[in-house]
Amino acid sequence: MTASFCMDQVKGFLSDDEGLMLARYVVKGLDVGEALEIGSWCGKSAIYMARAAAGQGRMLFCLDHHRGSEENQPDWQWFDAEVWDDQAEAIDTLPHFRRNIRMAGLEESVVAIIGRSEKIGLLWNTALGFLFLDGGHTMKAALADYRAWAGHIAKGGFLAIHDVFPDPKDGGRPPFEVCQLALNSGLFAQIDQVDSLVILQKL
Ligand code: MG
Repeated sequence: MTASFCMDQVKGFLSDDEGLMLARYVVKGLDVGEALEIGSWCGKSAIYMARAAAGQGRMLFCLDHHRGSEENQPDWQWFDAEVWDDQAEAIDTLPHFRRNIRMAGLEESVVAIIGRSEKIGLLWNTALGFLFLDGGHTMKAALADYRAWAGHIAKGGFLAIHDVFPDPKDGGRPPFEVCQLALNSGLFAQIDQVDSLVILQKL
């Protein structure tokens, strides 16, 4: 870690309690498979999880197209002009992600996968012990991520879902709906929660 690194400088939408809970379940999940997150943005959650993985001598896979989700686009609620690439005429969070991972001293513990999660999920062939779902928050995107990846979680592994708001007044519903879908499938049981982060375990 560089002397100047400070977590507060990393853009993101994650509380410290949520980051620490992710880290705890990454450690447990690595006993049964690899750890992967969908939706890295600028790397805040990745830093918590990759530190935990590094402590076990393991790595974290970080999947994102780095073009931002629907809600991050210009004129939407969560647009941030600092991640806009004028030349590409698109959001590009990858330079921010790389910088933050480097500043946190975690380059050797993070494997960035850049692309569409639903396409990569079709080709993925490695058991996951931990999956963090935090990609696009439209119903279409959240469902596509769940359908492409939940089947890769090994028995005993964990599915973490961010931005789960049972009350629509608190936030958008798709992550909550996906959480309900997972529970109703009979394949997962909820075992933990802090703020809007829910942890399910594959039965
Ligand atoms: Mg989130």
